[in-house]
Amino acid sequence: MRVNLTLACTECGERNYITTKNKRNNPDRIELKKYCPREKRVTAHRETK
Ligand SMILES: [Zn+2]
Repeated sequence: MRVNLTLACTECGERNYITTKNKRNNPDRIELKKYCPREKRVTAHRETK
């Protein structure tokens, strides 16, 4: 039930993190606050395909 996904920075588009989610708990795209190494600050990161 868990799927692999990539988290991309919503501001610069850099793909910084790989994680998994439970498709039943999170059927929609998830968004998390993560550190972006390119911008050297915390930004919102959204799941991509
Ligand atoms: Zn960024």
